[in-house]
Amino acid sequence: TQTETTVSITVVGASGDLAKKKIFPALFALFYEGFLSEHFTIFGYARSKLTDEELREMISRTLTCRIDNRENCEAKMDQFLQRCFFHSGQYGSEADFIELDKKLREKEVGKQPNRLFYLSIPPNIFIDVVRCASRSASSPTGWTRIIVEKPFGRDSESSGELTRCLKQYLREDQIFRIDHYLGKELVENLSVLRFSNLVFEPLWSRQYIRNVQLIFSEDFGTEGRGGYFDSYGIIRDIMQNHLLQILALFAMETPVSLDAEDIRNEKVKVLRSMRPLRLDDVVVGQYKGHTKGGRTYPAYTDDPTVPKNSLTPTFAAAALFIDNARWDGVPFLMKAGKALHNKGAEIRVQFRHVPGNLYKRSFGTDLEKSTNELVIRVQPDEAIYLKINNKIPGLGMRLDRSTLNLLYSSKYMKEIPDAYERLLLDAIEGERRLFIRSDELDAAWALFTPLLKELEQKKIAPELYPYGSRGPVGAHYLAAKYNVRWGDLSS
Ligand code: NAP
Repeated sequence: TQTETTVSITVVGASGDLAKKKIFPALFALFYEGFLSEHFTIFGYARSKLTDEELREMISRTLTCRIDNRENCEAKMDQFLQRCFFHSGQYGSEADFIELDKKLREKEVGKQPNRLFYLSIPPNIFIDVVRCASRSASSPTGWTRIIVEKPFGRDSESSGELTRCLKQYLREDQIFRIDHYLGKELVENLSVLRFSNLVFEPLWSRQYIRNVQLIFSEDFGTEGRGGYFDSYGIIRDIMQNHLLQILALFAMETPVSLDAEDIRNEKVKVLRSMRPLRLDDVVVGQYKGHTKGGRTYPAYTDDPTVPKNSLTPTFAAAALFIDNARWDGVPFLMKAGKALHNKGAEIRVQFRHVPGNLYKRSFGTDLEKSTNELVIRVQPDEAIYLKINNKIPGLGMRLDRSTLNLLYSSKYMKEIPDAYERLLLDAIEGERRLFIRSDELDAAWALFTPLLKELEQKKIAPELYPYGSRGPVGAHYLAAKYNVRWGDLSS
């Protein structure tokens, strides 16, 4: 008879913010939706000295049931919490991991054990944990996988060094580098939209697409949590990973299959075809304090965890180019910022003008207003909409801009799973499609590292913009240089 399998999930850094906010709630959602194997155990690992009960008490505060599926919610929470345990230990102590291993074995007895470690800890202790976990707490007969959180280094060298260290202890297929944007519903849907609808893929090239915009905006600043951010900045925090990953998925050639390696092969080709980023194709900004409506908003450098003379960008805009046959000359514009006037993440595809447009007189002089635009709103209020020109009903011929709108909340009426749920499930199932392979990461850093070094060496001062504004005006000039007008989030 075949031995039953079991999966043990160890959340390393279980006392931390990410574990509480995202990882335990995602694991609960998987359990509650029936996606975790019948035999599973969850261990929290950290230096903090918690009892099992204290861990359960801590995580129970953040568990929620889906709005559309509340049946037996309390009972399910109890069942879940009974499968959660805590082990206190140092991150670099093999002896402490040997103790963890003993506890795991007790839970796994009689089953084929598989083990997943989620490293939800600061990057300076990644390698300690990987060494100890792989040497002293690997599954004796099943698989052992490790999920690593960003940051994956801060430039090509440090990222390469991290990968080399990881590979001393792990094979490539054991490393799951998480970029939670890849777990977002609409990012996953990008390929579906493109490759399963006849109407999009034939248009997906320089022939019909004028520019592509990838926009990320937050309407709050670092608010006292700027310590980590200040040593990275918005380019490393959002562009080099999240926005670039979306760009690669968006622009890749048709993969041979949906297999992870086929998809990642195509993504890495896009990244390697990209033109090195030049300083004059980048605008950096930093928010400054101001008062509006009787309320005072702080500057980035007012954050007590940020040095007063910090030049770290809290905003950046960049024009990128893919030098291949499909995308030659098409600007891919990225914009990411904190403390702006709105929040959201979007992909906007602006199409070319209709050649010899019969209706051009109806648009007056601003032909730009008549071009089609496809918007994929990743968050919030997930939506896909296409701006088209339409005749205003009635006698005569007047046109307006209308929108074919797929708003997820009205079409699907269900809660969309958090990105961490999908990614955890994939890691448990060994599905690597949404995780970053080492060569992808190298190519992503190769693109951004020279620019980041130049910014830092030349001490380029960021353009200041008021908290809650649209960001530095330089971003508009950058877009204008390539004949682009930024789309407005959610319009
Ligand atoms: P965190 O709260 O700062 O740290 C997690 C745990 O690690 C802490 O509870 C602490 O546990 C231990 N720890 C903290 N600083 C340490 C140090 N200097 N030396 C040794 N142990 C230390 O981090 P987090 O916000 O949960 O994030 C975890 C990881 O995910 C980080 O690598 C972060 O960059 C990444 N990340 C976080 C977010 C987020 O939303 N928070 C988003 C994306 C990526 P004990 O003291 O109990 O051992």
